[in-house]
Amino acid sequence: MIIHDVLVIGGSYAGLAAALQLGRARRDVLVLDAGERRNRFASHAHGFLGQDGVPPGEIAARGRADVARYPTVALRDARALSVRAEPDGTFVVATEGDTHRAHRLVLATGVVDTLPAVPGLTDLWGDSAFVCPYCHGYELDEGHLGVLASGPLSLHQAVLVAEWAGADGVTYFTNGAHDPDDAELAELAARNVRVEPRLVRHVGGASPRVVVTLDGGAEVTVAGLFLAPISRPSELALALGCDLTETPFGAVVAADPMTRETSVPGVFACGDAANPMAAIALAVADGVRAGAGVHRSLVMGPAARPRAARSAVSGAR
Ligand SMILES: Cc1cc2nc3c(=O)[nH]c(=O)nc-3n(C[C@H](O)[C@H](O)[C@H](O)COP(=O)(O)OP(=O)(O)OC[C@H]3O[C@@H](n4cnc5c(N)ncnc54)[C@H](O)[C@@H]3O)c2cc1C
Repeated sequence: MIIHDVLVIGGSYAGLAAALQLGRARRDVLVLDAGERRNRFASHAHGFLGQDGVPPGEIAARGRADVARYPTVALRDARALSVRAEPDGTFVVATEGDTHRAHRLVLATGVVDTLPAVPGLTDLWGDSAFVCPYCHGYELDEGHLGVLASGPLSLHQAVLVAEWAGADGVTYFTNGAHDPDDAELAELAARNVRVEPRLVRHVGGASPRVVVTLDGGAEVTVAGLFLAPISRPSELALALGCDLTETPFGAVVAADPMTRETSVPGVFACGDAANPMAAIALAVADGVRAGAGVHRSLVMGPAARPRAARSAVSGAR
């Protein structure tokens, strides 16, 4: 079996950025991608300099085309089903009908979001229900906005989202997840945020309008609804025994701030998988950091596998 220098699991923004650095260092890289980007529900992506407003799949496709130009990098549409660390320091990854082996592993697997259990919400996700006002707030034209609480920290999202609302302000649907105290109520009122304590029974409507149906049947219409999903990292990180960092909205893989190496030597993590602040630009930057971190670990240190030494011994590429 070929032993690749690096296996990158996740071929979206972070994984492709890591692979690009490694391909440019002429390293043998295999990228596996299951094709489920976190933002696949949105028609347009915003806030990524130079590609503001471009469909998110197109940004990923451009990245893939960049990486595909490097002959030492292979891109494969496949899901990594399992992973194990071998005693010799390599990693073995199984895909359907195949097995792959590498000296280093990059987890660029993103996260899986769990939305609050409100009927209709999944149909609106990425269309008129969003997580990030920087990504989607501007297009809502300073309309009346909604925030759906998933816990007490959603108060901060309501205060933030008020920056993008017009004269009608924000309605904060606490939905049984947050019971603001007097100080919080005063803070919300000062920002033109109205608190709606009735439970949310359904959300629907056609973009750019969301109709929120409350317990008892009353309806509130907003131009867009913001919420913080609870997210979790890939099972692969758990199987490898990588340390996690807990955040109020789910766990991410703990990784060195500079090299992005995890608590498991030889395993690196980048992008949303390892960073609670989600944005394409940050995922790309994190992938660049991980790519350089992986490369340095191949060049220097006790488990190094320098290309120059390999070429001198075997005449390999
Ligand atoms: C609705 C929505 C809209 C958003 N809009 C914006 C926006 O406008 N602008 C912006 O900057 N950010 C936006 N974001 C955030 C952005 O989507 C993320 O920050 C970004 O996708 C993170 O990139 P990533 O490469 O880390 O992970 P992802 O893009 O999520 O990619 C992870 C990849 O890994 C693959 N993968 C996972 N497990 C495996 C496995 N076992 N085997 C193989 N492959 C695997 C997945 O299939 C996926 O292709 C949005 C997020 C959401 C939820």
